[in-house]
Amino acid sequence: MQRLEEKLVNDFRQLGKFAVEESTTVLNDKLQERIQTLEEVSAMQTKTLASLRDSSRVAGNRMGSAIDSIERSLSDAVPGLQFDPPAVSPTTHPGYAHPQFQLDRSEQVVKADPRDVEEFVGSYGFCPSCTSTDIRRANRQGLFEEFLRLFFIAPFRCRACRHKFFKF
Ligand SMILES: [Zn+2]
Repeated sequence: MQRLEEKLVNDFRQLGKFAVEESTTVLNDKLQERIQTLEEVSAMQTKTLASLRDSSRVAGNRMGSAIDSIERSLSDAVPGLQFDPPAVSPTTHPGYAHPQFQLDRSEQVVKADPRDVEEFVGSYGFCPSCTSTDIRRANRQGLFEEFLRLFFIAPFRCRACRHKFFKF
């Protein structure tokens, strides 16, 4: 019985030792992997850093040349540091119109022929109320309208809005 116990304990220890060894080797493997990965990463980082340094050096050169050219142009410009006024002031130019008010060249204003207007207006003209040209002479009513006859003023009636008005 005691021997069995001893054996069991021994086995257990063995097993434990084995397990520890096993796990240690696994850990070692894993660590090795990790270290390798880390090394790879650090190698990449080193490469990246190197390329970054390169690119920043390039950028620095570019910046430097840009600054050089700015300085050069400034030193060229400073003796007569003046900006030329614009040849044509965009807003006060006489022909200037806001785009909203600019006429399309294909849509130029056509001046109406006076005869056409006369024809359009008709012999009686516009209604002063609604601008209709559908106007007829109205009969004179009352003494006042008869009195206007002396001044060649006659009553008219707009047939569109029934507005009555007087005109020569
Ligand atoms: Zn009218």
